[in-house]
Amino acid sequence: MTQIDDLPPLREVIRRHDLKPRKSLGQNFLLDLNLTARIARAGGSLVGVTVVEIGPGPGGLTRALLTEGAARVIAVERDERAVAALGEIAARYPDRLSVIAGDALEFDALSHLGRRPVRVIANLPYNIATALLVRWLSVEPWPPWYDSLVLMFQREVADRITAQVDEEAYGRLAVLANWRAETKRLFDIAPSAFVPPPKVTSSVIRLVPRTSPESCNRLALERITGAAFGQRRKMLRQSLKSLGVDPARLANAADVEPTRRAETVPIGGFVAMAREFINIKSEPLL
Ligand code: SAM
Repeated sequence: MTQIDDLPPLREVIRRHDLKPRKSLGQNFLLDLNLTARIARAGGSLVGVTVVEIGPGPGGLTRALLTEGAARVIAVERDERAVAALGEIAARYPDRLSVIAGDALEFDALSHLGRRPVRVIANLPYNIATALLVRWLSVEPWPPWYDSLVLMFQREVADRITAQVDEEAYGRLAVLANWRAETKRLFDIAPSAFVPPPKVTSSVIRLVPRTSPESCNRLALERITGAAFGQRRKMLRQSLKSLGVDPARLANAADVEPTRRAETVPIGGFVAMAREFINIKSEPLL
C-alpha cells in the first residue's frame, strides 16, 4: 500500500516538522500503511466508533483510523512538534479529529467523550504503557467507558497481560487484566517496521471488558496479588504473611492448599481470597 489518503507521505511529514524521534518520549514511529490499517481494523469495524488514540506522533495510525471510518478520533499527544503535524490531518478531516496537546497520564477521557461506542486504539509510548493500561483496567464503576482496547506493547509486556494460570508470565497484571477483561494477543510486529527500530518485537493485543467480572474489591485483589506474586517462588502460606492475616484462612477460602505457589492459582482463587481478606480485615483498605 503506497497511499491511503491525499495527505503527504509520513516520511515527508516527519521531515517537514523536524520530528526526529526522541527516546525520552518512547518514539518509534510506524510508517507501514498495511500495518497501521491492520491495527485500525483489529477491534472490528470503526464505522460510528469514537476512537481515543494515545501518542499519535506523526499520525500514521491516526490516518488509518480516519480512512477506516472512525466517526471521531480524539488523539492525545505530548510532543508539540507532532501536535503541529497533526493539525494538517485535522484540517483534512473537519470535525472528525480532535488533537489534545498534553500528557496522557493527565487525560480525563470521560470529559471529552460524547457519542458511543468508544474504543482505545494506540501504539503506546512504552515508558507509560503499563501505567495507562492499569488505569483503564481500574475504572470505577465497571463496565468502563470503552468497548475495547487495541494496544501495542513490547511482546514481553503483552505476554504478562494475556498470560493464563500456570504460564510463566502469569502475575499481577494478568490477574487484573483477565479478571476484568477478555484478553487476546492478535499479532506481532517486527522491529524493522518502526523508525527507529526498537530492540524487541512488539505485539498488538485486544482487551474486551467483561460486563460482569466476578465481584470483589479491586484494592483487596491488588493487595492479595501484590503479596502473592511479590514472592512468587514462595508458597502462599509464606508469601501471604505480609498481609497481616492468617494465610491458611485465605487459601482455604480459595479452596487451594497453602503450599501452592501464586502462579498455580486461577483468577477465581484470587477473587475468593480478596473477598475473605475484606471479611477478616477490620480497618479500611488504602
Ligand atoms: N502512533 C505513532 C505511530 O504509531 O507511529 C507514534 C507511536 S510512538 C511509540 C509513541 C507516541 O507517544 C509518540 O508520538 C510520543 O510523542 C507520544 N507520547 C510519549 N509520552 C506521552 C505522554 N505522556 N502523553 C501523550 N503522548 C505521549
